[in-house]
Amino acid sequence: MKFKTLLFDVDDTLLDFQLTEKKALQALFQEEGLFLTDEIEATYKKINSQLWREFEQGKINKETVTDTRFSLLFERLNKHVDGKKMGEQYRHHLSQGHDLLGNSKEIIERLHSEYDLYIVTNGIAKTQYQRLNDSNMTSFFNDIFVSEEVGYQKPMKEYFDYVFERIPSFDREKTMIIGDSLVSDIQGGNQANIQTLWLNPTKQSTVPTIQPTYEISRLDDIFSVLE
Ligand SMILES: [Mg+2]
Repeated sequence: MKFKTLLFDVDDTLLDFQLTEKKALQALFQEEGLFLTDEIEATYKKINSQLWREFEQGKINKETVTDTRFSLLFERLNKHVDGKKMGEQYRHHLSQGHDLLGNSKEIIERLHSEYDLYIVTNGIAKTQYQRLNDSNMTSFFNDIFVSEEVGYQKPMKEYFDYVFERIPSFDREKTMIIGDSLVSDIQGGNQANIQTLWLNPTKQSTVPTIQPTYEISRLDDIFSVLE
């Protein structure tokens, strides 16, 4: 067999994070008696991704991301809020979201009988565990590695070293990471010297420095790569 170990990203690979995020924001705004417009949602996403970028560059810690993203958003709406408290409420809503992306669960169930499956996800441990449990998929995975617990995140080499050390009789040549993020998943896999499968449903173009081994537009197509 070409592969023995498959490492799966979660958000926008197995679970529909776009939908989860939208629902969580809607629930939060509803509690505040406010209406979430497309414009506010876009502003939130901009603020959030900027904060995560600064976190990835080591400029701020994770608490600054989760505790200030809403105070920054509401500052722009001229409303003063307790950013930390709102951040907690939001994460609670986020942890409730476990909408599957397509037929990902059936695919995982089928792969489970032939391969050793692992979860490799960047995020908050409590949130990710709850979402995976609620999706009824955890039993198909040998282990779950959430960046918060690992202490490093994808694409850092240290993150992958930590994961590989914990996979019994790990065989680098027979290991592949599957994910939608060109940086976290594909660049991470490149740096960790394993094969990579890029889930690219929106046909984004790649960059010269990051090369996936395989590319698919729907997760179902994974079977043709594994054969
Ligand atoms: Mg992802």
